[in-house]
Amino acid sequence: MLNKHRLMVPGPTPLPPGVTAAATLPMADERTPEFAEVFTRVIRRLQHVLGTGNDVLMLTSSMTGAFESAVQNLFSPGERVLVLDNGLFGRRWVDMCRAFGLEVTELGAPWGSEIEPAAVADALAADPGITAVLCVHCETSTGVVNDIRSCAAAARSARGPEDGVLVVVDAASGLGACELRTDEWGVDVVVGGGQKALMTPPGMSFVSVSERAWRRQAEARLPRFYFDWSAAALAGRAEIPRTAWTPAIGVLVQMDAALAHLLDEGVEAALERHVLLGRMARGGFLGMGLRLLTPDRDANASVTAAYTPPGIDAERLVRHLADRFGLQMVAGSGAMADRIIRLGHCGYIDPLDIVTALAGVELSLHAMGAPVQPGAGTASAIQVLAHRGPGRLPQGALIALAADHTEENHA
Ligand SMILES: *Cc1c(COP(=O)(O)O)cnc(C)c1O
Repeated sequence: MLNKHRLMVPGPTPLPPGVTAAATLPMADERTPEFAEVFTRVIRRLQHVLGTGNDVLMLTSSMTGAFESAVQNLFSPGERVLVLDNGLFGRRWVDMCRAFGLEVTELGAPWGSEIEPAAVADALAADPGITAVLCVHCETSTGVVNDIRSCAAAARSARGPEDGVLVVVDAASGLGACELRTDEWGVDVVVGGGQKALMTPPGMSFVSVSERAWRRQAEARLPRFYFDWSAAALAGRAEIPRTAWTPAIGVLVQMDAALAHLLDEGVEAALERHVLLGRMARGGFLGMGLRLLTPDRDANASVTAAYTPPGIDAERLVRHLADRFGLQMVAGSGAMADRIIRLGHCGYIDPLDIVTALAGVELSLHAMGAPVQPGAGTASAIQVLAHRGPGRLPQGALIALAADHTEENHA
């Protein structure tokens, strides 16, 4: 049977038609005033999405590269940092900081749970030598969204206002899907990139850099070259603004189109849409009898993870979904690889995409012999959609209902 390909993973994500079309434009020279217009517009639009007046530097790399640029530009060998670690990406930043010779204090939480902001305050109080907190906004490996506002507030109040603790946030899969207010919340550095909620092919990433972060950057002594923020800032201030080195030109053009798409919808409207998608995904998984990895909270709006039923290997389920329905989802990471299925719903995803994905999951589970009633999950998701709107559906109400009649599957 013909199956359309449906990409439902938390990056890379589907592209709006206008973003795909932008890939067919003739190649441009990035040193021209015409391209500088595109380049500076992308930066302006990113500042809007980030909620910041800070510098935004464009880097040609995956987001791991952009995060590495933050480590290289902000710190000196042996410097003490606090890294919040409640999933694969938090873990990655612990390893990265150690690879660069930093003294890392880890603050963990179980996978699927958020980091307690009060624990951040305690960790900073316990070690006055810590100069920065590194945290993940949406921990894509589990779908949990950390409370960056409170973590940043804890960092802000831990020391004097001037030489306080720097706050560095990995917003890879959260930006454009989950609330993040860079300046209002006092976040110094945000690391992001195109291929998650920003609906752009992989290849370009970026960092936003506060005044305080620039002061640190001037003192920091780790080696840097390709990712030297000073080089990026210098090129950005040239008469014809550009990147320090050749960027992924085509990807920048596509990012410009994608950001136009996002701003057309409106950043706040996009956040609301993602909240709805998250509610539908959680309601759907619960409705088909699966247990969620993360709490049923509106904040968790970018990716939803659930345990597969007993005896169902998640990797096999992913294979089945792809082979039978053309539906691309992803299993868990690390120790959870065989027990977790993840539905990515950040970016160019609408409510009926969620219904379709859930239909695939329940059909596959049924075919694989799990005790799942085809239609139960989609029905719950459709109920969420039908009753959306402020005041009409208390958060978690339908989901709790759905959970009720499925509890026995996991008892
Ligand atoms: C996708 C992602 C990254 C970056 O991954 P790259 O493959 O390097 O682009 C970093 N952090 C989080 C939370 C992510 O979801």
